Amino acid sequence: MIEFQQVSKQYSAEAMALRDITLNIEKGELVFLAGPSGAGKSTLMKMIAAMERPTSGKVIVNGQDIGKIRRAGIPFLRRNLGLIFQEQRLLNDRSVLANVMLPLTVSGAPRAAAEQRARAALDKVGLLERAADEPLALSGGEQQRVSIARAIVNRPQIILADEPTANLDRASATRVLDALKAFHSVGVTCLISTHDELVLESAARVIHLQQGELLKEAA
Ligand code: ADP
Ligand code: ADP
Repeated sequence: MIEFQQVSKQYSAEAMALRDITLNIEKGELVFLAGPSGAGKSTLMKMIAAMERPTSGKVIVNGQDIGKIRRAGIPFLRRNLGLIFQEQRLLNDRSVLANVMLPLTVSGAPRAAAEQRARAALDKVGLLERAADEPLALSGGEQQRVSIARAIVNRPQIILADEPTANLDRASATRVLDALKAFHSVGVTCLISTHDELVLESAARVIHLQQGELLKEAA
C-alpha cells in the first residue's frame, strides 16, 4: 500500500534528509517510525502525502507514483489519507464538532450528514461529550484525539500520524495511541512516528531512522 524504492531527499547541498530508503507497508499494517529528532521521520511521512517530493527514487501510495502526481491529483490522493501533523492545528475559534466536520463541509457534504459523521468520529475517540466545547478548553491529549477524529472523518484507508504523542504525559499518550489503534483494528493502515522509545510496542513493527538512514528491522 505504501512503497519506497531507493528514496533519497535532499533539501539543500549540505543536508541529506533521507538516504536510499527502501520499504514496504502492507494494507492494514500498524507501523511505528522511530528515531531521534532530525532523523527524517517528518520528511518520510510528508512524501507519502505529496507534501514533499523525493530527490531520487520512487514513492508509491495505493499504486500511484507520488513523484508523477499532478497538482490536480493531490486532493484525490489525500482523500485516502488521514493526516495528523503538527502543522495542522485545530481552529480555536470554533467548536470541536465544527473542527471535525470541516473536512466534510469543505468537500461539499450536506451539513446534517457531516454532523452525524463528525459525531460518530468523536464518539470513536471518546470525546462526543466535548463536541460543543472549544479546543482550548480541552487538554493536549484531548486536542490530539480531536485531530484524530478530524483525520478519520473521511474514512481514509491510511492514517499518518507525525509525533502524535509529543508533549503528552504517559496517560494521555496511551489514550491517543489507543485511539489510533482502534482504527488499525478495523483495517486502516497506520504509520505513527515518534522519538519516544517508551511509545514503541514490542507487538508492532518498528522502522528505525537515524540521520536519514533506515536501520535494519528487527526480525
Ligand atoms: P524528524 O521528523 O525525524 O525530526 P525531519 O524530517 O523533520 O526529521 O528532518 C530531517 C532533516 O531534514 C533535518 O536535518 C532537518 O533539518 C531537515 N529539513 C526538514 N525539513 C526541511 C526543509 N523544509 N528545508 C530544509 N531542511 C529541512
Ligand atoms: P456513520 O455510518 O454514522 O458515519 P460509522 O460507524 O460507519 O458511522 O463510522 C463512524 C466514523 O468512523 C466515521 O465517521 C469515520 O469518521 C470513522 N472511520 C474512519 N475510517 C473508518 C474505517 N475504516 N472503518 C470504520 N470507521 C471509520
